[in-house]
Amino acid sequence: MERSCRVAPIPGIVPEPDMKPYDPAAGITTLSQDLIRLLGEESVLAGQSAERAYDCDAYTVDRSRPAAVVLPNNTEEVAKVVRYCVKHSIPFTARGAGTGLSGGALPALGGVVISTKRLTKILEIDLPNRRMLAQTGIANKKLSDAVKHAGLHFAPDPSSQTVATLGGNIAENAGGPHTLKYGVTSNHVLGVTMVDPLGEIVTFGGKHFGGPEFDFVGLICGSEGTLGIVTEAWIKLTPLPKVVRTALASFDTIRGATETVAGIIAKGTIPAALEMMDSGILKAVSAAFGVTYPVGTQALLLIECDGDDVATVEAEMQAVREVCQSNNCLDIAMAETEADRAKLWTARKKGVGAMGRLAPSIVTHDGVIPRSKLPEMLDFVYRVAADAKVGVANIFHAGDGNLHPCFYFDDRDPEQVKNVVEAGEAIIRKCLDLGGSVTGEHGVGVEKIDLMPLMFSEADLRMQGKAKAIFNDGTLCNPCKILPNQKSCVEHKMRWRGMAW
Ligand SMILES: Cc1cc2nc3c(=O)[nH]c(=O)nc-3n(C[C@H](O)[C@H](O)[C@H](O)COP(=O)(O)OP(=O)(O)OC[C@H]3O[C@@H](n4cnc5c(N)ncnc54)[C@H](O)[C@@H]3O)c2cc1C
Repeated sequence: MERSCRVAPIPGIVPEPDMKPYDPAAGITTLSQDLIRLLGEESVLAGQSAERAYDCDAYTVDRSRPAAVVLPNNTEEVAKVVRYCVKHSIPFTARGAGTGLSGGALPALGGVVISTKRLTKILEIDLPNRRMLAQTGIANKKLSDAVKHAGLHFAPDPSSQTVATLGGNIAENAGGPHTLKYGVTSNHVLGVTMVDPLGEIVTFGGKHFGGPEFDFVGLICGSEGTLGIVTEAWIKLTPLPKVVRTALASFDTIRGATETVAGIIAKGTIPAALEMMDSGILKAVSAAFGVTYPVGTQALLLIECDGDDVATVEAEMQAVREVCQSNNCLDIAMAETEADRAKLWTARKKGVGAMGRLAPSIVTHDGVIPRSKLPEMLDFVYRVAADAKVGVANIFHAGDGNLHPCFYFDDRDPEQVKNVVEAGEAIIRKCLDLGGSVTGEHGVGVEKIDLMPLMFSEADLRMQGKAKAIFNDGTLCNPCKILPNQKSCVEHKMRWRGMAW
């Protein structure tokens, strides 16, 4: 089906006033002095190195420099900065670890970046009720590390979990390899404390499940920092499974692997993780870490089954093996020990990092398709990359049908940037044609804002605009994200694109 994409703001979607980007030269050279007065010298960064370090997230195609960066120590300090920004009409954008892959933490109109780097405390652990209260700048993995001794963990586990923050996970409603069985971040967040776009401190939900109020926590999860800055959150702790079986199956064709994914799910088995990597990733991982795979391997499936009962988990793994064999897999390596398991996960955990050897820049795209369409979709991805003359490797949550084609290229060359952006858009259009979505877990950010009208009608977008306006009916809190209704953002987007240094 032919789809057209509107890059102009859509009339009627809670129109937002035009807004100029914040110009540090126009009056507030005193900005950093004011912020220093509010928070102290050690909590404010400004100047060229701060501008460079905070001008993008892990989606490096679009860049925009902040005028200043603040590192508040608590919720009250966040609120002080927001109130200051509101008073002086300065845009502000929350930032966790900056591992986002759609430009969500990019300070689109300049202004102040509010980093949660110092909000790393665990405030309460309630083991009997399996609950934890933590500040949102803490890295995801530290949440699980803190309760491992009690046989518990925080189930959402994005592959970036050693650095990505709880706040970033909430804002992006992050998934991960174990989403297939355990769900996304919103399934594990019970309550939040947030500084709203006017600087008020508000609390929704709490330690216990199910209050009488509207589910604002659900709305905040996945709102990409456009509804306020979450500073603390109550999260659920999940028991670690007693039995885990991990397998790495290698295939000499991409189709063999993709058909195995569809076959496993069709058979009624839901592994805890079902991840795929293609030969591009394997080459990078082999070169970086010296790991070897069976000769002729074109694709790997990392498959993990878990539970509390050995017989059930073994039966699931047997069903998985049968599907792999019926699709002519070359080999299935099984982990016998925890060290083996870590080794089998190497390609999945270190694949994207290893790609740094292939080219100076990577853009990891994110789209969703029904699992049964994986074979057709991957054929399309390779074709699009070849036409665009850019390298591509695939590493993704195959069990969720959540595709991540990683393009590698040189973002100092505008022609390559253009090709990568266009190739990504072609892939997303194809995802929609196959009945999927513009994003699975990386969010809309600035990257996909123009693609939203391909998926949603004007009425849909208007309703989303109204939901946003409950919290944020202004233009200061993380402007130019998610909804294509901000006139100035369309104009300024031209300046962000390809602004590599
Ligand atoms: C190698 C790699 C692997 C990845 N794997 C996965 C994966 O498996 N699954 C997945 O879902 N994602 C993955 N990601 C994407 C990214 O790590 C996630 O989106 C993560 O949740 C972002 O967290 P962050 O702390 O880096 O947030 P940032 O990038 O700093 O910010 C992301 C968004 O959240 C907002 N934000 C940040 N903190 C707050 C806060 N406290 N309150 C309100 N808004 C806030 C920002 O404004 C921005 O819009 C991966 C990224 C990389 C680089």
